[in-house]
Amino acid sequence: MDNYQIADTFSLLSKLMDIHGENSFKAKSYASAAFAIEKLPQQLSDTPKEKISSIKGIGASTAQKIIEMLENGRLKALDEIIIMTPPGIVEMLNIKGIGPKKINTIWKEMEIESIGELLYACQENRLKLYKGFGEKTQQNVIDVIEFYQKSKGSHLYAQVEMIVGQLDQILSELFPNNQVLLTGSFIRQLETINEIEFLIDNSRESIEQTMLSLEGFVLDARGEDHLIFGSSTGVKLKIYWATKDTFWKRFVQTSSPQSFLEHFNLTDTEKLYRTEQEVFEASNIPYIPAALRDLPGIIERFREDPGLEIIQVEDIRGIIHCHSNWSDGSNTIEELAQAAMAKGLEYLVISDHSKSAFYANGLQPDRILAQHDYIDALNAKLQPFQIFKSIEADILNDGSLDYPDDILRSFDMVIASVHSNLKMTEDKAMARILKAIENPYTTILGHMTGRLLLSREGYPVDHRKIIDACASNNVVIELNAHPNRLDIDWRHISYALEKNVMISIDPDSHFTDGLDDIKYGVLVAQKALVQPKHNLSSLALNAFREYISKRKNAIN
Ligand SMILES: [Zn+2]
Ligand SMILES: [Zn+2]
Repeated sequence: MDNYQIADTFSLLSKLMDIHGENSFKAKSYASAAFAIEKLPQQLSDTPKEKISSIKGIGASTAQKIIEMLENGRLKALDEIIIMTPPGIVEMLNIKGIGPKKINTIWKEMEIESIGELLYACQENRLKLYKGFGEKTQQNVIDVIEFYQKSKGSHLYAQVEMIVGQLDQILSELFPNNQVLLTGSFIRQLETINEIEFLIDNSRESIEQTMLSLEGFVLDARGEDHLIFGSSTGVKLKIYWATKDTFWKRFVQTSSPQSFLEHFNLTDTEKLYRTEQEVFEASNIPYIPAALRDLPGIIERFREDPGLEIIQVEDIRGIIHCHSNWSDGSNTIEELAQAAMAKGLEYLVISDHSKSAFYANGLQPDRILAQHDYIDALNAKLQPFQIFKSIEADILNDGSLDYPDDILRSFDMVIASVHSNLKMTEDKAMARILKAIENPYTTILGHMTGRLLLSREGYPVDHRKIIDACASNNVVIELNAHPNRLDIDWRHISYALEKNVMISIDPDSHFTDGLDDIKYGVLVAQKALVQPKHNLSSLALNAFREYISKRKNAIN
């Protein structure tokens, strides 16, 4: 071990001790030892052991630890503290701008254990509510985390969207005489993307040469039929090559999962296809857009019903699930309503956080009354646009909602969500959620698993049982459209539709721009063949009003 490694070890030990709130005097002495060791003119490994403790800045106990490291190549005290620390917490030390003390608050008080969760909390405005975290820290944390995540390989669909557009333009300009087509996971509308894929009818040599003449791209790998480039955006670019003759066949191959391609006969290498449709026709398969090809049984569905009307963004008629500045949102209810009106929407369901969500300034009963008066006044002013009164009620540990019935009754509808104690066994999670579904006031089950894509696994649930319970209790399942959540996972939606359970595509937005997130919900809903009639937020105002009043009347 050289001095730098020894110094790094002490520095990490000292930070982890601070994170755990351990003896700060000791932690400080390790930090100053790290500082001193880095500046030493001689290597500790060349220093006689008995002389180490007399070096300035190094005491007897530190010297002992240095000797341990030199002899064993590791430090037991560090190993022990690392075992006690969630990996996400250790990883947070990579974020410039938040030191060990802040990480301690993030971990112990906010119950956040990963960088992704931390980013989400910042986006929800939650960080600045804690002592020592201002608006500036919050923004800084967002910037640093976004950069950090970008460099780690996988990305949210929404994060690469803009880069895709720019690359499309760059490639079309670079290869003006070729066919350049976006393909792969992005056009399949998958919720996370590892690489942006294009198909070009050009030779490997020409593509490679042209790309490398461009600043900002480096060749990462040469595959049998593709090249992978690293780029300054942090997202990998994969380019498949094809000839003019093989182009459309290659397009279908690169834009479809294997399970889908198995239905095709593409072995005839001589056969020419002039369009994508011709590739389908030749195998006697109805044309199916790339985004829908992941769904099992999709070909049979299209054979039975070729005119299937799949949901589009324009089919969303109102905003359901939205936070205002009454809890942790940034905008007033009126600003949110105006933004929704500007999009041509007919209604807005305000669902601020409930009282248990203290970190989000959840509403105490007196503030609910005040909010309802305010909404009444706004409705008089903004009609025919309508604001509905709702709440995102916390599902408590025992599955109950955090208000008594007489308060729950005062809402037009209730979204029930889990926000605390997310680490549960499946049994515990199921008992908790099923009880909430059985609560007669629950209209919608919010973000079913609590997952945050690329950063937090959801708690384990039995999707079928939950869907069955929603079917028996007439509860709608949210498809939370926040690009981090997309929860319920679209892969489970078919079963919900089979059971006649409605889906609600909801933005869960905390500011006006967040209303646009409904798009990401629609994109994954399409993958599950959701039609407008399956989606609660696609009901026109009158139908929606009727739906919730019927639903309310059924309670007693
Ligand atoms: Zn929520
Ligand atoms: Zn919410």
